[in-house]
Amino acid sequence: MRIGIFFVVDSVLISDSLPVEQGQRYGDHIEHGGHYNYWLNLVPTTSAETVFKSHAYDYYLRGRAVYDVKHHQVKPYVDHCIDTAALATIRSSLALPGNTRISHDEHYQCHHCNQMFMDDFDETNE
Ligand SMILES: [Zn+2]
Repeated sequence: MRIGIFFVVDSVLISDSLPVEQGQRYGDHIEHGGHYNYWLNLVPTTSAETVFKSHAYDYYLRGRAVYDVKHHQVKPYVDHCIDTAALATIRSSLALPGNTRISHDEHYQCHHCNQMFMDDFDETNE
C-alpha cells in the first residue's frame, strides 16, 4: 500500500506516492507530499505532465491517500467529480485493497467543481 498525492489529467494519473512505512506521521495519520509543491517542482517528461503543468495546480481533479494508524488502512480523499475509471487507476497505482473506502473532501476541487476557480495560466479565462 502506498500513500501520497495524485492528480488525474485527461484520465492519466500523475502522483507522488511512496510506501506507507516511508511517510511522515502527523498524529493518527501517515502522509506524504503536497499538491502545490509537487506541481511547482515538476519538470514535465510526458505529454500528460506537460498539459498538467500548463494550468494552475488546482485545475485538475486531485486527491490524497493517507494511512490511518488507528484503523490500519489507507484512506483516499478525492474530488467529487472522480469517476469509476480514475478510482480504479488510483486503487491499482497505490496498491489499495479492493474494499478501500473512498472519501470526498471539500478541499479537493478541480476547475469544474470550484465555482471560484481562476486559472492564471489560461488566457481564454479573461
Ligand atoms: Zn472536480
